[in-house]
Amino acid sequence: MIALDDIRKSFKGRIGLSEPLARYTTFRIGGPADIYLEPLDKADALSLIRYLRHEKIPFFLMGNGSNLLISDEGITGAVVNLETGFNYLKIDGDGVITAGAGVKLAKFVDFCISNGKGGAETLAGIPGTLGGAVIMNAGAYGGEISDHMLSVELIRGERLVKIAKEEGGFAYRTSSLQGDVVLEASFEFPAGMPESMKATRRQTMLKRNTSQPVQWPNAGSIFKNPPGDYAARLIQECGLKGRMVGDAEISGLHANFIINRGGATARDVIDLIRIVRDEVKSRFGIELELEIKLVGFDRNPVE
Ligand SMILES: Cc1cc2nc3c(=O)[nH]c(=O)nc-3n(C[C@H](O)[C@H](O)[C@H](O)COP(=O)(O)OP(=O)(O)OC[C@H]3O[C@@H](n4cnc5c(N)ncnc54)[C@H](O)[C@@H]3O)c2cc1C
Repeated sequence: MIALDDIRKSFKGRIGLSEPLARYTTFRIGGPADIYLEPLDKADALSLIRYLRHEKIPFFLMGNGSNLLISDEGITGAVVNLETGFNYLKIDGDGVITAGAGVKLAKFVDFCISNGKGGAETLAGIPGTLGGAVIMNAGAYGGEISDHMLSVELIRGERLVKIAKEEGGFAYRTSSLQGDVVLEASFEFPAGMPESMKATRRQTMLKRNTSQPVQWPNAGSIFKNPPGDYAARLIQECGLKGRMVGDAEISGLHANFIINRGGATARDVIDLIRIVRDEVKSRFGIELELEIKLVGFDRNPVE
């Protein structure tokens, strides 16, 4: 039971009750959260997380919801989102860039380019926030968010700590920071040539828009690429492009994407995921690992 009056006493941000989450995910799928909270600054976030941990209220950190499949039943407990209070970008006298967890990657890339800093351009078009990107070690076309990272400020347990990049356990689409609350990260990029950075950003966007089903709600790549291969190739070879369950469909453009044709439920997507995993396993002997995060399910629904 969440004692709302206790939270209201010190919390400055917005509080939503029975907040439908489908509107906050790029899949446009997901039931409600019992309580949805948007802390306004570090003090607000810290006292909220301390309260939730102390009261043993389960909570989930949500960025732009671009790597999530949330169950149709929604999320029990609290969902915390930092997009309102942590939407800042700064550059100091030494050229170190600090970005709040709520900043969208597109804005981050634009900021780097406009300050003559090179190396973030290939991240343009990943529709996540900086916080989600750090947790996932998001990347594309040879670059990853951790490449030029110096440090991350986060809430670990009930404490505010700053860790060096080397302590973040960054690897292909993962980090060792799962369970921490990322508040901001700092980066040191080399100098770049504005015109060539803008050209890379433009080409990156063009590649995405022609190779991914961007006009339909989706959550990006469903599976990680297995070592030395591509999940999309394996799924395509199984003849699964266009396969549908309910309103969920394996994209005909990119086989590692599932699209929501309008009324897809989380259940539909789970059933499609199971079909893909089973077919790829029986044809190639490869177990595809999920890249998207499943949230709000009692047990792992794809096992
Ligand atoms: C069309 C499309 C294309 C995509 N292309 C790519 C791509 O090229 N490369 C790539 O890597 N990804 C890609 N993605 C996936 C996704 O955009 C990235 O994983 C992104 O980094 C997720 O960020 P988010 O803010 O949406 O996080 P969410 O999806 O909201 O959350 C993802 C995880 O991060 C955690 N999290 C979020 N914010 C915080 C925080 N502040 N503190 C602690 N934990 C947090 C969540 O709890 C969850 O575990 C794509 C997605 C779509 C829809």
